[in-house]
Amino acid sequence: MRTSANNKGAPLPPNEQERLQALRELRILDTEAESAYDDITLLASYVCGTPISVMSLVDENRQWFKSKVGLNASETPRDQAFCAYAILNPDETLVIPDASTDERFRHNPLVTGDPNIRFYAGVPLRTESGHALGTLCVIDRVPRQLGDAEVLALRALGRQVIRQLELRRALDQLDKYRAELEALNRDLERRSLTDALTGLWNRAAFERRLGEEIARVRRSAEPIGLLFIDADAFKEYNDTHGHPAGDDALVRISSLIRANKRENDFECRYGGEEFAVLLPSTDKDGCVKTAERIRKAIESAEWPLRKVTVSIGVSSLDGKTADGERLVSVADVCLYKAKHQGRNCVIAESV
Ligand code: GH3
Ligand code: MG
Ligand code: MG
Repeated sequence: MRTSANNKGAPLPPNEQERLQALRELRILDTEAESAYDDITLLASYVCGTPISVMSLVDENRQWFKSKVGLNASETPRDQAFCAYAILNPDETLVIPDASTDERFRHNPLVTGDPNIRFYAGVPLRTESGHALGTLCVIDRVPRQLGDAEVLALRALGRQVIRQLELRRALDQLDKYRAELEALNRDLERRSLTDALTGLWNRAAFERRLGEEIARVRRSAEPIGLLFIDADAFKEYNDTHGHPAGDDALVRISSLIRANKRENDFECRYGGEEFAVLLPSTDKDGCVKTAERIRKAIESAEWPLRKVTVSIGVSSLDGKTADGERLVSVADVCLYKAKHQGRNCVIAESV
């Protein structure tokens, strides 16, 4: 068997790395006291008639006490730990009737000095997978023995500690599942609001955002504008070059819209070959400027098959008449006018 680093204290269990991992996974080390464990140590010292009872977890270089009765320390070095011996036999209760006469412990500082341990009985806290994480133990300052009934009771209390630890793990797992589910839901919601072809927001996202922005306009009385952008003669584009080429052109249009709007503007694919951009805190002039910038960027982009242009309808409102439906219908009428004026142009109206 390997021994611990300084060649003092108990040898290490054969599965030490896995055991430590099982202990760490519980995320219980250095946590606050919990009444569930404190009740058990209280009962252990009462049932066994000892002044001291401890729930000890054996960490890499220390034993840490999750709960204790009659002891001030919250941990001790591992090489002084009686429990480090107890965990070597996960299925057995380790009983030391008199530590001062036991070769393993008689020079131990916990025996030669405070708290002057003489008697020790420890039940390993053995997980379902067989790792002894520590012990539930009782300690006295005078030599003594435990009766059979006391041993049985101590073991029963040890099983209660294990149940608490398993509950803790189950709750932790539940938290993890919940977090995963929430992330999944967020992803699902994002997908349901995104257009698959262009990656822009979709119409459902637009409706939601429009409602939010209109509410903001009502509070702040700031202006807001809307652009409806429709690809010109796009049916012909598809008919001539095929639907996949049409898709490519729509993707290209969407990135040109993105590149020519401002940070706060909200762009979406409204449907088919039509896009919408909401421009918060922007007056009519600002909206027309943005619309013209987008129109020119699309017209002057390098198109591999044939030139692509868009017509843009612009509506803007100033807070006095904060009506989202009207904002949409006026932009729609303007777009219709732009088509009739010969396409590749911007028509704007105030609401
Ligand atoms: P106008 O200048 O008046 O807007 O003419 P238009 O041909 O663009 O208008 P119309 O409404 O007659 O046709 C729209 C075309 O846009 C027809 C349709 O196939 C095409 N379209 C709509 N959605 C998509 C798409 O997702 N991919 C492709 N490739 N084409 C699309
Ligand atoms: Mg069109
Ligand atoms: Mg259209």
